[in-house]
Amino acid sequence: MEKGIKTGENIQSAKMKLPKDRDNNYSRSVMEQRASYLSELSNHPISHLTSGSVDPELTRGNIESIIGFAQVPVGVIGPLRINGEHASGDFYVPLSTTEGALISSYNRGARAISLSGGVNVVVTNDGIQRAPYFVLENVFKAKEFVGWIDKNFSILQGICAGTTNHGKLESFQSFLHGRTVYLRLHFSTGDAMGMNMVTKASCEICHYIVANFPVELYAIESNMAVDKKPAHINSIMGRGKTVTAEIFMKKAIISRFLRTTAKDIDDAYRRQVAGGQMAGIVGSNGHIANGLAAVFLACGQDLGNIAESCMGYIYTEAMGDDLYISLKLPSLIIGTVGGGVSLPTQRECLEIIGCYGTGKAKKFAEVVTATLMAGEISLAASVVAGDFVSAHEKYGRNKPGE
Ligand code: NAP
Repeated sequence: MEKGIKTGENIQSAKMKLPKDRDNNYSRSVMEQRASYLSELSNHPISHLTSGSVDPELTRGNIESIIGFAQVPVGVIGPLRINGEHASGDFYVPLSTTEGALISSYNRGARAISLSGGVNVVVTNDGIQRAPYFVLENVFKAKEFVGWIDKNFSILQGICAGTTNHGKLESFQSFLHGRTVYLRLHFSTGDAMGMNMVTKASCEICHYIVANFPVELYAIESNMAVDKKPAHINSIMGRGKTVTAEIFMKKAIISRFLRTTAKDIDDAYRRQVAGGQMAGIVGSNGHIANGLAAVFLACGQDLGNIAESCMGYIYTEAMGDDLYISLKLPSLIIGTVGGGVSLPTQRECLEIIGCYGTGKAKKFAEVVTATLMAGEISLAASVVAGDFVSAHEKYGRNKPGE
């Protein structure tokens, strides 16, 4: 043992014992015991965390050491007219947030969009990745390895099929760096977001590879997937759902509901693209992370995936006095099966938009993208029309102590 490092007996944390029930760590009683233990330690009452109506047993597979439920308010925007291939009609979309003015801003955008005939939206690509790396003897073996993967790809597809009913290994890309091969495996995952599914499949695929080709070292992930980080590879090649949406907005709507003009919005966006370039942002949008976080939280999505989902590219064009605006999301990571979507409030929110369960993932992707368009158009308008600050003053200021 290193000098200076104390044994468990001597350190305070070793004496602290969060209540735990080895037989059932998801009962309401053990959840409440943990909450009261933390309440005593922090000398502050805990009652709201534990007072929710959801049975903690339902969270098995979604969380460990549960101490309660974060009760985050959920609002709604709409009706939002969506003209998608999977989502078609007028939608009320639930959004969960503590940011005042967000709902009213998205709602204003939804109104302007709906009066303009709606958001046209299409999903153009679908699939998720795992990217193991393999270290070979030298660059010659590394190149040979890629040829071997190509030749044996149908075997790898069969191994994947043995681990999941809905996941399918579709293709791979290889990247050589010295004697290391980065193998980016691309899967379709049905209506699930798919990371558990493809991780399990990739693990079996790796086992087969290293048992059948002389690999010195490997790991299941090289950070080239790229999960939960913004990255150009996902922006270019797509990850999750790649979605593109557009709105054609007439002068009368822009002037009446957004209190500005097509030219001013177009001008502002071009300058903001230049600003974003100087700042080095990945993507080019006003605040799609806001809407993503709110819809992800309401609808049981993995919030970590906001990191790559929030790469979005806005394009605007003044068409005379009218406005064309489009949004491309290269890497929207969502699911309507698996993960957190079956938890009670999350399911209720998905049901509001008719997006719970099998056959609904692309519809949900279209609803999410259309919702983000509402936020983009409203923010752009408020920045150029000068009511950005007043809207936050009116709706978005907490008044501590009142
Ligand atoms: P999952 O809940 O682990 O798996 C989805 C399940 O739904 C599978 O058992 C699948 O069966 C089944 N299923 C039923 N109907 C389906 C349908 N129509 N389409 C697709 N699947 C269907 O969810 P996941 O999406 O694979 O993983 C999401 C979770 O992974 C999230 O909670 C996320 O936080 C977490 N995550 C994991 C990692 C990781 O490295 N493991 C990384 C990031 C995030 P079959 O398997 O038989 O197809």
